[in-house]
Amino acid sequence: MKIAILGAAGRMGQNLLRCSTKIAGCEVVAAVDRGDHPLIGKPVAEWPDIVYTADWPIHAEAIIDFTFHAAVVGNLKNARANKQAVVLGTTGLSEDEKAFVQEAAKQIPIVQAANMSLGVNLLLELVKRAAQVLDPDYDIEITEAHHRLKKDAPSGTALMLAEAAAAGRAVALKDVACYGREGITGERPRGEIGIHAIRGGSIVGEHTVALIADEESVEITHKAYSREAFATGALRAALWLSGRAPGIYNMRHVLGFAE
Ligand code: NAD
Repeated sequence: MKIAILGAAGRMGQNLLRCSTKIAGCEVVAAVDRGDHPLIGKPVAEWPDIVYTADWPIHAEAIIDFTFHAAVVGNLKNARANKQAVVLGTTGLSEDEKAFVQEAAKQIPIVQAANMSLGVNLLLELVKRAAQVLDPDYDIEITEAHHRLKKDAPSGTALMLAEAAAAGRAVALKDVACYGREGITGERPRGEIGIHAIRGGSIVGEHTVALIADEESVEITHKAYSREAFATGALRAALWLSGRAPGIYNMRHVLGFAE
């Protein structure tokens, strides 16, 4: 699969380039970034035949986009014009930008996920199943831990886990969520889903979902050790897109949990 990486000079782009040499079937044919980036024209260490470029990679079969939300619509227009599959990892899209993703997916296949890690996407599935099987006598508490520089809480992944747990119980998250506790909180309501954030050091990302009953508890944990966890998932998604029909897909499709 001939792959172009958009945002190649960025944090995720650099991880994608490193991981791409380890995954059979991936051939990076373009490392694209903004025209004013200092790396433009410099050789790509992992793929000695190419240099960082600002040109659109017409010879690529799949595009992996980890850039900036405002760049996504232009990138999708180019991919659509060239009939290229897209892995869209960029987050923070506005409502209009999200609508354009749906529009473009009528003509090209797109995998879009806010967290491309294979492990997190497996965790989402396991949590939904656990919440389905274990009744609300099992109190669900979600904790996440991240580095001290993270600007938002709880993490987007913790929210996705809470949504998965709520979906497993067939309830709306907004009706059962409890974000942290302080003061005279009263007894814990049956069916509540607690969500808590820890911040410290350089933790890349840890999420635990605990289902706690009087007589036993179950805990499911995911730990990311580096951004390569997201990069590997994105590259797997690109390979999976080979020969797919136009449409919008997510990592559940890539992992085989959804048709
Ligand atoms: P970053 O700022 O380190 O890198 C972004 C790169 O994109 C920069 O090098 C920038 O110059 C480049 N860029 C911006 N506009 C461009 C354009 N029009 N064309 C080509 N290149 C362009 O950011 P990052 O940490 O690598 O994250 C990138 C995006 O990926 C963010 O939206 C982030 O939230 C998201 N992200 C998603 C996942 C996931 O699993 N889906 C994981 C990590 C990060």
